Amino acid sequence: MKTDYDVLIIGAGPAGCAAGIVLAEHGHRVLILEREKFPRYHIGESLIPFTYQPMERLGLIPKMRASCNQKKYSVQFVQPNGRASQPFYFFNRYDKDTVAQTWQVLRSEFDEMVLHHARSKGVEVIEEITVKELLREGGRVVGVRAQKKSGETVEFRAPITLDCTGKESFTAVRNGWRMKDPYLNKVAVWTYYKGSKREPGIDEGQTTVAFVPDKGWFWHIPQHNDMVSVGVVAEGKYLTRGGVKDPKAIFHREVEENLWIKDHLSVGASTGDYYVTSEYSYHSRHCGCEGLLLVGDAFAFLDPVFSSGLMLAFKSGVMAGDEIHKAILEKDFSPERFAGYAHYMRAGVENMRKLVYAFYDPKFSFKQVIDKHPDAAGEITDCLSGDVNKDFTGLWDKIREFVPLPDELPVGAPLAAPRAPQPV
Ligand SMILES: Cc1cc2nc3c(=O)[nH]c(=O)nc-3n(C[C@H](O)[C@H](O)[C@H](O)COP(=O)(O)OP(=O)(O)OC[C@H]3O[C@@H](n4cnc5c(N)ncnc54)[C@H](O)[C@@H]3O)c2cc1C
Repeated sequence: MKTDYDVLIIGAGPAGCAAGIVLAEHGHRVLILEREKFPRYHIGESLIPFTYQPMERLGLIPKMRASCNQKKYSVQFVQPNGRASQPFYFFNRYDKDTVAQTWQVLRSEFDEMVLHHARSKGVEVIEEITVKELLREGGRVVGVRAQKKSGETVEFRAPITLDCTGKESFTAVRNGWRMKDPYLNKVAVWTYYKGSKREPGIDEGQTTVAFVPDKGWFWHIPQHNDMVSVGVVAEGKYLTRGGVKDPKAIFHREVEENLWIKDHLSVGASTGDYYVTSEYSYHSRHCGCEGLLLVGDAFAFLDPVFSSGLMLAFKSGVMAGDEIHKAILEKDFSPERFAGYAHYMRAGVENMRKLVYAFYDPKFSFKQVIDKHPDAAGEITDCLSGDVNKDFTGLWDKIREFVPLPDELPVGAPLAAPRAPQPV
């Protein structure tokens, strides 16, 4: 078995595959190590418009256009009494043939398609192998120790390793780099419906965010094959009030709290599987150290209310791929050279995070801000659509007239100290 590569990537999700594709296209020898056998289940099924650019760079758009994934043109917000906002159409601001049309996906199929694409670009992938430890020499990460399903242990070496392990965030957790965002400490309970009601025509694939009391909300994401992903997110205390702990009971009690959701689920049936996550947001204090870089959710995970996760995973994967290509050419993997990557990615996450904070403030509504400042509409749209690396200072001033916004978290700069991550 070949064990020496230019780049090792832990995790074959969208972030890992994106980085792998970019690096393979630059001509590097890339190995992805993935714990699961694809297709595997994953939550995170709604794309936003600005996922388009990284997917275009990766060559995924023709595959998406040829796929049966549900097209998504809009988002709407629905009050507990069932009153729906006008659908907000992305093509009122962006090009209808490209950015403004996005998709709802089934992640098992979508991630497998992306993985096949990575393989077709020359990325080597080993599935059903779990990375257990980073290998170090002096202060540098020089590879990984991984375990196959059979129990056999294998060491792989490369001058740089990417941690793309998603929410589990392999290195941040093991090194105490993970910082929670306590205010965004929510719980999600979800299931899938077949044959339930969906909107007609162009609105068929729209995401609906439907409110329940106490700033909780449902996502309603129509997928292909007449399936709908539907879940409720709120504080754990609210969802379990009265001692209710069973996910199915929690879910169906909340269905009664929003008339639109109740109506849409009044036909069709749940698949019977109910999922739960305490999907608190977190950020890593460092984006890596010498020979190591964190990408996608492994670097930062934000409450998914605005469906930003896949956009950020693809975008950070592409950017990390380009930065590492330069590092390989210059034979310089010093942590400082990734500071620009860390700043850029975290600036985008911070912008989205401010809108997420505002969303959860009971005194906030987008409408209120736009009624007073009509020019804020475009800025809000851009941020919600994923065009997050812009100067939104003016928008934050307008929103602060209504609600406070959080201080920025420390940027997550690379760890330049001589100490590399410790093994488990
Ligand atoms: C409730 C909820 C709803 C969401 N909704 C949306 C949404 O609507 N839209 C959206 O864009 N995003 C959404 N997200 C976020 C989205 O799921 C993630 O942002 C996205 O999957 C991140 O991609 P990634 O490649 O960083 O990580 P992942 O997709 O999680 O991939 C990580 C991979 O690493 C592998 N791995 C982990 N540890 C190891 C190891 N030690 N060795 C080998 N392999 C390993 C895992 O098996 C996995 O395949 C949601 C998240 C949650 C929790």
